[in-house]
Amino acid sequence: NKTTKLNFKSGFIAVVGRPNVGKSTLVNELIGQKLSITSHRPQTTRHRIHVIDTTDDYQMVFVDTPGIHMGNCKAINSYMNKAASSTIANVDVILWLTEVGKWTKEDSRVLEHITRIKTPVILCINKIDKLKYAKEVLPFLDKVSQKYQPTDLFPLSAFKKNDIHALRKLVLHYLPEQALIFDADYITNRSEKFIVSEFIREKLMRHLKDELPYDLTVEIEQFEQNGNLQRISARIFVDKASQKNIVIGNKGVMLKLIGTEARKSIEGFLDRKVFLKLWVKVKQGWSNDKRALASLGYN
Ligand code: GDP
Ligand code: MG
Repeated sequence: NKTTKLNFKSGFIAVVGRPNVGKSTLVNELIGQKLSITSHRPQTTRHRIHVIDTTDDYQMVFVDTPGIHMGNCKAINSYMNKAASSTIANVDVILWLTEVGKWTKEDSRVLEHITRIKTPVILCINKIDKLKYAKEVLPFLDKVSQKYQPTDLFPLSAFKKNDIHALRKLVLHYLPEQALIFDADYITNRSEKFIVSEFIREKLMRHLKDELPYDLTVEIEQFEQNGNLQRISARIFVDKASQKNIVIGNKGVMLKLIGTEARKSIEGFLDRKVFLKLWVKVKQGWSNDKRALASLGYN
């Protein structure tokens, strides 16, 4: 029984940082399972998602936060900022991700949030695999150290198994000795339905160009299991009629491509056959309108 084991540790770990530094990738690697979507686009992660890794020795509850953003008047950004701030004050340790060589104004903004909070911080400098020589990390380390002294400084590549292993050990150091927080078989606070909608959104973000994906959300309308078949119908909301045409594509090719790729990912996740139907609907100004946001679950 895991709960009675001596020296068992458990706790919450917030993963913060500006968009696109690799937060979702890092969490997926740390727990070794894909639950949080990733893409090369900023703002892929909109909601707070807990993912939980339980072993015989520990339970780590990772809180993958939406990025802390620059002040932009859209309601969705303010929602995301609030979610990130309240998360970091209530965890055992913060993993703050930055990207080597790329300190931006948004990183400075994250720093402002971080300095207000007493929680220990492991400042991770990610994507060092992009460097030709390891020592190239040093100027960036210097620059960052002048701005802030974290509890720990950890250069890594989220793609390197050894780095992930070492980081897991370091994180464990900050967790208190206590029993399980969640049941051992509980891997996320999000429903299957939610994760499915995120898979669809991930494919949209991957394939659509320009600003379009920020004005788009996915709502699952049907989610029914018949034996080994899952029937899913999802509606994609966009801001303008012109965007609807882009999502559908010439003769429907784009929507078909997105549907096929999403279906494959969902089948892998649910481990059953999936019948996926996608619709596109214009909902004007949804990302600016708090009420429209609430009706889609962003509150
Ligand atoms: P988030 O917005 O912070 O959650 O970032 P994501 O996890 O979605 O990652 C953004 C992009 O950075 C994706 O294309 C990832 O594949 C890439 N990425 C993440 N970690 C690394 C890394 O260690 N090295 C490199 N080269 N790319 C990375
Ligand atoms: Mg993310």
